[in-house]
Amino acid sequence: MRVGIGYDSHRFAPGRPLILGGVTIPHSLGLTGHSDADAVCHALTDAILGAAGLGDIGQMFPDTDPRWKGADSVKLLTQANLAVVEAGYHFGQADITVIAEAPRMAPHIAGMQQRLADALVVSPSTISIKAKTNEGMGWIGRGEGVAAIAVATLS
Ligand code: MG
Repeated sequence: MRVGIGYDSHRFAPGRPLILGGVTIPHSLGLTGHSDADAVCHALTDAILGAAGLGDIGQMFPDTDPRWKGADSVKLLTQANLAVVEAGYHFGQADITVIAEAPRMAPHIAGMQQRLADALVVSPSTISIKAKTNEGMGWIGRGEGVAAIAVATLS
């Protein structure tokens, strides 16, 4: 069994959709980035790539490449997982924590689990997603952005 960890963060900005774990969440602000800025997807993608020893999302999908501008990060996760499978591994489970002061994530967790599971062709029961605030502290606490941490196992 192999274990990988991934971390990602994106900054809030007006005029952008808020997409986390492949789910569009109603909110006054969205996240900025070259792709759709889905920090949950990006952290999970880095976790599976890390577990397989395949580098990271920035190497696979460089933000200087116009092909990935506005990219659907669920598709990037699917593509990264294909590389993982080609390297001889398959996904076991993941545990993800998303950290944001707002909006409330609870109503969207099941939808995220389903979308990420569909991308990896696994059961949603293998994708755990937890959400926390940062208790008002620091850049997350001031509502400047969102962070996500993911751990994944491969066998
Ligand atoms: Mg990112």
